[in-house]
Amino acid sequence: MRCVLVNGAKLKAEALCAHCGNRVGVNYVREIDTRLIYCDFRCYSIAVETSIRVLGHRTPIINAGTRSA
Ligand SMILES: [Zn+2]
Repeated sequence: MRCVLVNGAKLKAEALCAHCGNRVGVNYVREIDTRLIYCDFRCYSIAVETSIRVLGHRTPIINAGTRSA
């Protein structure tokens, strides 16, 4: 996962952190792939660790949609 740290930017609309739900100020972290916004790098890193943990418990779907007869 990749992110950018934004300093001194003003969002067009009020935004809330995707992890903790606090209002995002002029400094925030935006994840590039999902475009989710986090209030700081701490929230971003926690969200990334949590999502990896959740994905790690998923069973991979192999050959989904192709059934052999
Ligand atoms: Zn946050």
